[in-house]
Amino acid sequence: MVRHEQTLQRVHGIDDIGTALAERGLDLALLLRRMRAVGPESDATGEIADPPPWRPDDVPALNMNLVPTRYGGSPALQSLVAQVRLMTCLGEADASLALALPGPGLAMPPVVALASSEQQARFFQRFQSGTPRWGAFAITEPDCGSDATAMRTTARKTARGWVLNGTKCFITNGARADCVITFATINRQMGRYGIRAFLVDCNTPGFTVSRIERMAGLRATQLAVLSYADCEVPDNALLARGDEKPLDDAFSGAQRSWDYFRPLLSAVMVGTCRRVRADLSAWLDVGGAPANSRQHVAGVEATLLDIDRQIAAAWLLCHRTAWKTDRGIATSMDSSMTKAFASRVAARVTRAAMDIAGIDGIATYPSLEQAYRDARAFDIMEGTGDLQRLMIARAAQRSALRPWDITELTSCDASPPDPSPDIASARQSGQETPHDA
Ligand SMILES: Cc1cc2nc3c(=O)[nH]c(=O)nc-3n(C[C@H](O)[C@H](O)[C@H](O)COP(=O)(O)OP(=O)(O)OC[C@H]3O[C@@H](n4cnc5c(N)ncnc54)[C@H](O)[C@@H]3O)c2cc1C
Repeated sequence: MVRHEQTLQRVHGIDDIGTALAERGLDLALLLRRMRAVGPESDATGEIADPPPWRPDDVPALNMNLVPTRYGGSPALQSLVAQVRLMTCLGEADASLALALPGPGLAMPPVVALASSEQQARFFQRFQSGTPRWGAFAITEPDCGSDATAMRTTARKTARGWVLNGTKCFITNGARADCVITFATINRQMGRYGIRAFLVDCNTPGFTVSRIERMAGLRATQLAVLSYADCEVPDNALLARGDEKPLDDAFSGAQRSWDYFRPLLSAVMVGTCRRVRADLSAWLDVGGAPANSRQHVAGVEATLLDIDRQIAAAWLLCHRTAWKTDRGIATSMDSSMTKAFASRVAARVTRAAMDIAGIDGIATYPSLEQAYRDARAFDIMEGTGDLQRLMIARAAQRSALRPWDITELTSCDASPPDPSPDIASARQSGQETPHDA
């Protein structure tokens, strides 16, 4: 285990992140160890194990991860590159638990992009707590996932505020969240321009968690079905920047979330693949034989080399996208490329590992089989692989720049980003997302 921790520090260069978290009371190495230990139980039950992988002392730092500096977040964790590194480590420990850790999660980018300063302060204040707090982001509905602009959840204006009616599904941490950023339409005829975002407190009358899905992978994320039945929220629940320059529409806030989280989720999968590779090597080291007796040693070695090449490429893509984001360069297409590629890598690596390890290897390292299921779920979340490829193809047709064109990188300031960049200040890309398709 000590060797594992040394490897983490050497490979990921996360010393500074670990130090920043330690200053806030969180022991990252211990958290990673505990996530590994309780991961199988969480995978079996779909619950965060009891006791959870975090200690009470870790909770404040976990809650405040992804919170901007001006609301108390750690300066060392503001860049997307830092978050990519952190998520790689967490994914290596357990992908499902990495996504189930407390904090604002997917709700952060739309709040930063769409909410007024007063609303942001109110939202992030919740996370200054010694009790675990979760945020959630609700856009998908039973009849529209890829085409989110066709949503049916309505928001009707009343004298006192807004009344929401509808159903959201597959909402990550939806059953444990304190508040959910909920997207609803004020007029379906207006398409994406009719969409608004609301901060819904989970104890609001009319809001219920109707079901938690039984998942094949990423089980601890507890994807929830949320119902809004005449759910009345106050006027100031509508995210609006007031006198500050507003975004074109609330749907752009959802796009921010996808652009920001695709490289992060991809980093989780890179971590998962690294774990698979390490477990596979460990199993082969103790004399595990390839499941298929026709597979020669040279064939296995070639597969391992291919796995390493794929993981390295996905890791570089995550970093490149994060690096660009931190410098305010539009990254919608990069984010999609990262997720589409990482998703294929995760599917290929986990499948190859199962083929090599076979029943014996999986019995020794059940994480190999869990990683295969987690990779399947990863391909669907934040826009399916099909939709990412569709969006990349459309963007490539429109753009004169090719993805490998480095003009935009060489022409921008190559110095490190401000330690606490405002994510909302990242240039609005205006590019189409898969969810637009
Ligand atoms: C682990 C996980 C976590 C999630 N977390 C959240 C969350 O926190 N908040 C949230 O709002 N949602 C969340 N989702 C939902 C997710 O965003 C949707 O499942 C996803 O967008 C796909 O939508 P759908 O399930 O309705 O599938 P559909 O859109 O019905 O797609 C079904 C199939 O058709 C394909 N397809 C659809 N349209 C096209 C097209 N135009 N061209 C080619 N192929 C197409 C898709 O690739 C897919 O294979 C999560 C999902 C998962 C699995």
